[in-house]
Amino acid sequence: MRSKTILITGGAGFIGSYLCEFLLQKGFKVICMDNLITGSLSNVSHLFKHPKFEFVKHNVSRYITIKGNIYCVLHFASPASPVDYLKFPIQTAKAKGARFLLASTSEVYGDPLIHPQPESYWGNVNPVGPRGVYDEAKRFAEAITMAYHRVHKIDTKIVRIFNTYGPRMRKEDGRAIPNFVSKALKNKPITVYGKGRQTRRFCYVTDLVDGLYRLMNSSINEPVNIGNPNEMTILKLAKEIIKISESKSKIVYKPLPQDDPKTRQPDIKKASALLKWKPKVGLEEGLTETINYFRKISG
Ligand code: UDP
Repeated sequence: MRSKTILITGGAGFIGSYLCEFLLQKGFKVICMDNLITGSLSNVSHLFKHPKFEFVKHNVSRYITIKGNIYCVLHFASPASPVDYLKFPIQTAKAKGARFLLASTSEVYGDPLIHPQPESYWGNVNPVGPRGVYDEAKRFAEAITMAYHRVHKIDTKIVRIFNTYGPRMRKEDGRAIPNFVSKALKNKPITVYGKGRQTRRFCYVTDLVDGLYRLMNSSINEPVNIGNPNEMTILKLAKEIIKISESKSKIVYKPLPQDDPKTRQPDIKKASALLKWKPKVGLEEGLTETINYFRKISG
């Protein structure tokens, strides 16, 4: 039997590269498309010799013809303004009669007023704040994805990804875990914003990929949250990273950025009931893997 083909935009990125690996293991043919602005060839170079893996360096906002059938487009290419970046992948899904899965984000809930956040919550986003471009672009991407589903009957899926971490995150991406780990490994001060009392829930990347695969194979067209419900303050996170990496870093405090959500908490009842999904990797185990990776790449 010929394998089904999956097109992954942003396939050389942090999450995209795990999807490439996972789907090759499941026997799919994978076309990984990435313009390498934020993705990196080193995330997928070990897959180049795989007979079912194809890498296409391409900016997804420009038209490109893909030969043959496509079973599913997984849209993980996501620069700050994804409006143009959505057009080609969703039209490819339409032309090929493929499923389409949009990587959305918990940012669509903004600084939420309801905890935990169920998919039915419409969010509390400041459209003109510093996070507005990203948040509203993702909200627009969700809106257009649903429009394609309603009008063109594409079998679309939307995943709202909550804070995810693991090896292959970019050192300089500005998020808490890569920032803290990079500093801890150099024994430099770790900068906690505010008093560090804000909380997040961190999901290890392999747990996320398991959820994404279940969603891709499901018949669900409404958005689904995927995230880890275990709460952690940012201060505690910094201390955990210092402990696990046996670092001598001190913690220093800086002002909290504007519109920084105080907390974010996925309601995963839907994923649990409909996809039979739940996260399995604990924070200590996940942080250890991540720290080992950062240690390796900083040589
Ligand atoms: N944060 C911090 N120091 C850093 C980077 C982030 O204290 O060097 C805080 C940030 O203000 C936020 C939390 O850690 O409250 C998580 O930030 P991240 O950018 O990882 O994710 P997001 O805010 O998008 O959930």
